[in-house]
Amino acid sequence: MINLEFYSPEEKVEYPLFEKKGIELYIKRDDLIHPFISGNKWRKLKYNLLKAEEQKKNHLITFGGAYSNHILATAAAGAKFGLNTTAFIRGEEVENEILSFCKIYGMQLIFTDRETYKNKSKLFQEHYEENQNAYFIDEGGAGKEAELGCREIVKELKQNYDHLFCAAGTGTTSAGIINEIANQNLNTIFNMIPVLKGGSFLKDDISSLLEKNHQYEIHTDYHFGGYAKTQTQLIDFIKDLAEKDFFQHGSKILMIHTGGIFGILGMLDKFK
Ligand SMILES: *Cc1c(COP(=O)(O)O)cnc(C)c1O
Repeated sequence: MINLEFYSPEEKVEYPLFEKKGIELYIKRDDLIHPFISGNKWRKLKYNLLKAEEQKKNHLITFGGAYSNHILATAAAGAKFGLNTTAFIRGEEVENEILSFCKIYGMQLIFTDRETYKNKSKLFQEHYEENQNAYFIDEGGAGKEAELGCREIVKELKQNYDHLFCAAGTGTTSAGIINEIANQNLNTIFNMIPVLKGGSFLKDDISSLLEKNHQYEIHTDYHFGGYAKTQTQLIDFIKDLAEKDFFQHGSKILMIHTGGIFGILGMLDKFK
């Protein structure tokens, strides 16, 4: 059985603007889970790892761009839990820090032209049809197992919050959070902030993962510059809303730190 223990506290941020507005901001430090299997990437892998173990498959096959946090998380998880890993990387061969770490963790990288890359299940079939050990994990870790894992973000919370904020790529993490808020009948308002895709695409993408009675807000009027700056821009966004009196006096707000190797120093910078 793989060891699933980890540490992700809710930490309060002391900051004059929040004090002035009578609000409290907490950050759920999913970035502390693991230096490379960080944030929501661990949440999204957890039930995939358990399923692979149950099905006695020891080779994780996944997909992503050359800067994918998910690819790195899969490589590190494979090394940690003794599984082989292979990733189909979109586009021509490149080198960068993320891919270097993947190689150190023993991941096999297969650079794949953009056209071929589009059909992931076909790629998987062509390469692994005969291979009983191969376990398919979709790009970004998206899927039902990932959604289940992300529900646990809400299950772990030590107190009630009026608002939850989370950056969304595929929206899988958000879907898990939204479903769990609905399950528990919480009054928490979930605020989803798309990093890459526009709001209506994302709404369509996650609709199949959402259960009934769900509710959420999606903020599309704010532009993120991709994943590297996600956490710092999310902090800017919350500060901006506080400035505009978006939050009622007395509100408790939680930001989910979704991790990524660029998150920590940038976060410090925002509260100087
Ligand atoms: C992957 C990732 C996201 C997006 O998560 P989704 O479940 O795809 O919405 C957000 N922030 C960071 C830092 C990520 O690595």
